[in-house]
Amino acid sequence: MKLYEYQAKEILKKYKVPVPAGAVAETVDEVRSATAKIGKTVVLKGQVHSGGRGKAGAVKLAKTSDEAAAIAHDLLGKTLFFAQANANLKVNKLLVEEALAIKHEIYIAITQDRTTQRDILIVSTKGGMDIEAVAEESPEAISKTPIDPLLGLTDYTARNALFAAGYDKTLIAKTVPVLKALYAAYIGSDAILAEINPLVITDDGAVIAGDAKWLIDDNALYRQIDLQSFGDSSEDDPIEAEAHRRGIQYVRLEGGNIGIIGNGAGLVMTTMDEVKRAGGAPADFLDIGGGAKAESVRNSLEIVLSDPNVKGVLFNIFGGITRGDEVANGIIEGLAALDVKVPIVVRLAGTRAAEGAAILKQTNLVPAETMQEAAEKIVALALKN
Ligand code: GDP
Ligand code: MN
Repeated sequence: MKLYEYQAKEILKKYKVPVPAGAVAETVDEVRSATAKIGKTVVLKGQVHSGGRGKAGAVKLAKTSDEAAAIAHDLLGKTLFFAQANANLKVNKLLVEEALAIKHEIYIAITQDRTTQRDILIVSTKGGMDIEAVAEESPEAISKTPIDPLLGLTDYTARNALFAAGYDKTLIAKTVPVLKALYAAYIGSDAILAEINPLVITDDGAVIAGDAKWLIDDNALYRQIDLQSFGDSSEDDPIEAEAHRRGIQYVRLEGGNIGIIGNGAGLVMTTMDEVKRAGGAPADFLDIGGGAKAESVRNSLEIVLSDPNVKGVLFNIFGGITRGDEVANGIIEGLAALDVKVPIVVRLAGTRAAEGAAILKQTNLVPAETMQEAAEKIVALALKN
């Protein structure tokens, strides 16, 4: 789950990472009064699920309440293009914060690293808006330090990471507690990414989080009761959002024409390959999981068919715990409830496949014996015109 900057900064504050004074605002009046309350130059920051807001024109400085109100008038409700998310996103909220007198911009982040099987601390003294270019052109300017899960982020590990990044030695003592607090926040919120860019060193030597980007592990949300209300799927693909509301593992794919439903991630991905090989293009990844019941099959079919690009649907089910007859009943329920206008090919194998096939005989669904045959059939039927 993605968080907005203002939500991430609430977590940071809770774990005692210094953040600028500020407030989130949804109207011009709220921006005006927040600015007046801060009483000095403020920065106004559009709250969207994307980085690169500075470059997109969604981060502005304002010296007075009038200036802030004028910027808010322009930005609130405005849709801007964010290259980093490759999406047009609407600015519904602005974070109004005391502007920082920036001396240095540092990049710090903690995320998971599959190679070392550790959380890693990433530090670069070349923080700010062009960190992607730094990663590309001078990767040596970025230090990566695995964190021992049993010891946590120790002082010496944090210090070593800062040294390795070529960090100003006089600032190390001040920054180590910030790194440790960031790690505590990352662990405490079940994050899979906690990034501060820039971590600002101000003219008077304070170390403050200027920005925050945060991803929470969806599988841990059940125990992150306080964070659940931070979820906002309004910027997600609407079909994906609906699928997730229904608890279905669905990923929509661009430029596809064949809807794919299978059980088991590996089987679904192989089915996607076979559809591609047969000359089609998969429109989605949908894994109905083990032991799929009729209702989830019907739900899945509905989700896949709600994509107008889908010209045909391929079911590829290998019955283990999942039973062929349950799946067949789900498809029949789905057909009865939905107005299906596209061809559907079904390949059932494994547990109760024969019973499933017998049930499907009463319908105009097209059976297939193998995955390859199923892929060829659906592509031929769906794309014949
Ligand atoms: P992002 O572009 O989405 O990562 O948004 P950031 O919050 O990181 O802001 C982008 C850039 O705006 C920062 O790298 C800073 O250079 C600048 N900026 C942000 N906040 C302030 C501030 O309080 N004072 C000043 N002078 N610049 C700021
Ligand atoms: Mn940033």
